[in-house]
Amino acid sequence: MMPVKNWNVDFESNINAKQQPIYENIDLLNEIAKKLASFQPIASFDKILTLRQKLANLNEDSFIIQGGDCAEPILNDPTTYGRKTEEFFNEITEILKAKYKKTIKIARIAGQFAKPRSQKYETINGTTFEVYKGDLINGFEFNKEDRKPDPLRMIKGYEHAKKIYDLNLDFYTSHEGLLIPYEASLIRQKDNHYYSSSGDFIWIGNKTRFINSYHIKLFSKVINPIGIKIGPSTTKEEIDFIVNKLNPNNENNKLIFISRMGVKNIHKKLPSLLKYTQKMNYNIIWICDPLHGNTYKDENDIKRRSFNDIISEVKLFFNICSDNNILPSGLHLEMTYENVSECVKQNEPNEEPYLSLCDPRLNKHQTLELLKSL
Ligand code: PEP
Ligand code: MN
Repeated sequence: MMPVKNWNVDFESNINAKQQPIYENIDLLNEIAKKLASFQPIASFDKILTLRQKLANLNEDSFIIQGGDCAEPILNDPTTYGRKTEEFFNEITEILKAKYKKTIKIARIAGQFAKPRSQKYETINGTTFEVYKGDLINGFEFNKEDRKPDPLRMIKGYEHAKKIYDLNLDFYTSHEGLLIPYEASLIRQKDNHYYSSSGDFIWIGNKTRFINSYHIKLFSKVINPIGIKIGPSTTKEEIDFIVNKLNPNNENNKLIFISRMGVKNIHKKLPSLLKYTQKMNYNIIWICDPLHGNTYKDENDIKRRSFNDIISEVKLFFNICSDNNILPSGLHLEMTYENVSECVKQNEPNEEPYLSLCDPRLNKHQTLELLKSL
């Protein structure tokens, strides 16, 4: 419910954006947004163009690997986190080399800290607070103070993201473009183009990609490649809206559809959408997120995903794409180099900690095994 005002790009106002926090102090919010708009860009215009160039040249020999935390923490010292992520991506590339000549590495990092949630509130032992929405919005600790949305967190997020980006690591950065005041304030202009300087690659989540979505309209102005999560409820009309808004010139290096159907739905839902995009001659790069359609709660009410389901969805995705003459161009994963037991793998003891701030991630061993199976 956020009227956009006083920010450097004057997009249509009075349109409700879904999944936005309600800030108590609107004057402070606008002050922070103005401040952000005066800061240096995070992502570089030229780097974004190199990513567009790489996407223009995709073929059977190339593979997009996008991955990282579900919810990135905002850290005081993001340098180690950035460097360890780079090392992890290098290990991943070594494995992908066996099958693909070129990998395009895109980390969920330097901005992946605003989360869409299905519930507004969380109740533990009879006490209710707002749900955790990511470090950019509120805090993880279960108490009133932490759970209150605080606009000052946007400055901390910016600083964390900028530090990581300025390390010039060997990957592109990406995140879900969710929090409107943050994202709108970081849209910049260069050479007569708008670009999102909050990250190299921005995607729009499954909960905010509907017809007339504020998020789609906001990002329709920028030259960055844009991802869209495509869940089982996606309709052909929504695809028309997305394509018309985000890729009106039907360029081949602009729109990435991230299929996240779930192993149970993919064979029912994906083929007709692929056929439709073919029939309409839409230029779309298809990749698969085999995690988000496969989440369940275990007997302790903890979010889990089964490694078997993840592997199965990836296989089905590749098969369904090739049946429909579509190039399966890569994967989008929630993964970490940390030793965790979050996703469940048969015969793997569940003895490492659960450290994710939100959804369960593949640990290093699981990630590498999945990529070896391609
Ligand atoms: C995510 O990628 O963390 C996410 C929320 O995904 P989706 O929008 O596909 O549910
Ligand atoms: Mn997630």
